Amino acid sequence: MAGTVIVGAGHAGAQTAFSLRAEGYRGPITLLSAEERSPYQRPPLSKGYLAALRRRETDADDLINLHPVASYAEQDIALRLGSPVSEIDRHARRVHTTTGKAYGYDHLVLATGARARTLPFTTPRSERVRFFRTRHDAAAIAALTADASRVAVVGGGFVGLEAASVLAAAGAEVTVIEAAARPMGRGMSPVMAEYLLARHRARGVEVRAATRISAIVEDGGRLTIATGQDTTGPVDLVIVGVGVLPNDELAQKSGLETQDGIVVDSSLRTTRDPRVYAVGDCARFPSPFASAASVRLESVQNATEQGRHIAKSIATGTVSAYERLPWFWTEQCGLRVQMAGLVEPADECVVSGDPGQGAFSVLAFRDGRLAAVESLGRPRDHALARRLLADPAGWPEHGVLHGAGYDLSALRTAVISPATNTVDG
Ligand SMILES: Cc1cc2nc3c(=O)[nH]c(=O)nc-3n(C[C@H](O)[C@H](O)[C@H](O)COP(=O)(O)OP(=O)(O)OC[C@H]3O[C@@H](n4cnc5c(N)ncnc54)[C@H](O)[C@@H]3O)c2cc1C
Repeated sequence: MAGTVIVGAGHAGAQTAFSLRAEGYRGPITLLSAEERSPYQRPPLSKGYLAALRRRETDADDLINLHPVASYAEQDIALRLGSPVSEIDRHARRVHTTTGKAYGYDHLVLATGARARTLPFTTPRSERVRFFRTRHDAAAIAALTADASRVAVVGGGFVGLEAASVLAAAGAEVTVIEAAARPMGRGMSPVMAEYLLARHRARGVEVRAATRISAIVEDGGRLTIATGQDTTGPVDLVIVGVGVLPNDELAQKSGLETQDGIVVDSSLRTTRDPRVYAVGDCARFPSPFASAASVRLESVQNATEQGRHIAKSIATGTVSAYERLPWFWTEQCGLRVQMAGLVEPADECVVSGDPGQGAFSVLAFRDGRLAAVESLGRPRDHALARRLLADPAGWPEHGVLHGAGYDLSALRTAVISPATNTVDG
């Protein structure tokens, strides 16, 4: 038995390996990682880890370990660090690494994640122009901001704004430059995004929306950013957070279908080879929670739950559709926003609660039904939303919520049976 080979040891790959064992899989498991360090979590990189590094806390790495290092051996998972896979021979069912090793497989799991998208022009070859994806990026940003008083963040997505929040709190003068009309336009309602942006501005962060940058120029170690209209700077550091690109070239090269991600069916198997699966940031899959025919999601919940799903498929030999509600979170300006479901631009949004009190939810309705909920200071709403939205066929009607004063807890008896009268966090 050749066993299961997993390419990529981020949240998705590591979860797949541990879940295979939890599901009783007895075959060999090989987890191949391009990175040199044992698998780690990415969300803290732009939040607590960055803040801890800036405070020079020596135990900051404790914040990001994904699993205890010893647990891989304990679970008989062969973790091979520094082993980028360069080729998949699907005919021979074998992968090859750049280090000259080959590993045969019965099942192959592609969990190659994503990488930071670059800007559409040449940027200075300076350590002071940084992308944000890895722990090295976080460490470099922390080191470079130790004496950097002025920072520009190019891209107003979650990662860029989280970093802006940490650096502004540490005393840096931060400007965020976003090409779209509104930062966080992808994946967050206008109401919630505006609320957070007002908090950033109140803390001294300058947010420039609808501003497309055309060049970054370095002069004597300081950087100036040119836009269509004017310039920003000079600044000491530019953090570029303009989204990610899926690592799907390996799959494409081996003849698998790719389209902004590795295309899989509803059971997360690649469309051209039932022995090959794709999970996490690199996978494009059909989701009943989105209007589009397929989506690629970038979240820890998506990566770990997809890992669990295919581990069960491989271990038990059963094939079933992956239909888990997507949920996310972000932390900015000392606030935590929790999101259940996927907010889409055409959704009708209704606010429940009082933004003035710093506790409210945004209810997003699609085709007359509740499709997504964002909550700030209302963890109970988030927990309820995850139950209410879990099955798209049962999404509550707008009229029902209107009748309940848009109070999710008024619907709880409908979704939580007295026998299991609990909600998870
Ligand atoms: C700074 C930051 C903050 C974030 N914050 C949040 C958050 O608050 N909440 C949230 O839900 N999500 C957050 N995310 C997103 C989340 O971290 C990702 O969705 C998640 O890491 C995806 O896991 P993954 O395993 O699919 O991919 P990755 O974490 O990208 O892991 C893929 C791994 O595969 C390796 N690899 C690639 N190609 C090969 C190859 N050919 N051979 C071997 N190995 C290979 C890569 O080096 C990498 O180690 C954040 C991301 C970043 C960067």
